[in-house]
Amino acid sequence: MRTPAGVDCPYFYGDYYRGKHIEECRLIGKNPPPQNWTADLCASCPVPSIKRANACEHMIMTPIIKRKLGLFKRYISIAAFCKKSGETVKEPHIGCGICHPFDIPE
Ligand code: SF4
Repeated sequence: MRTPAGVDCPYFYGDYYRGKHIEECRLIGKNPPPQNWTADLCASCPVPSIKRANACEHMIMTPIIKRKLGLFKRYISIAAFCKKSGETVKEPHIGCGICHPFDIPE
């Protein structure tokens, strides 16, 4: 579904039927502040581009809401883990490389 930032995200849910205005992020869920989701977070969220680049079904993404220097706007950082390799995924856009080994030219 399309987020308020205008990109498609599989975790966004919006219900605008008959005047309703219900929006939620089903990756972050309903956390208490300061880890709560607000629609402005979608604008800088890396999840839609990660999902477009990497469709791995074994990768689990954990969103962490941060604030630079404790003062500026909140943003989402993603920690990724691969269930298959049992390792942290350093670059979620690419994946851990177990299913699709990186080609290293000789
Ligand atoms: S915050 Fe990120 S994961 Fe959540 S709905 Fe927005 S774009 Fe999707």
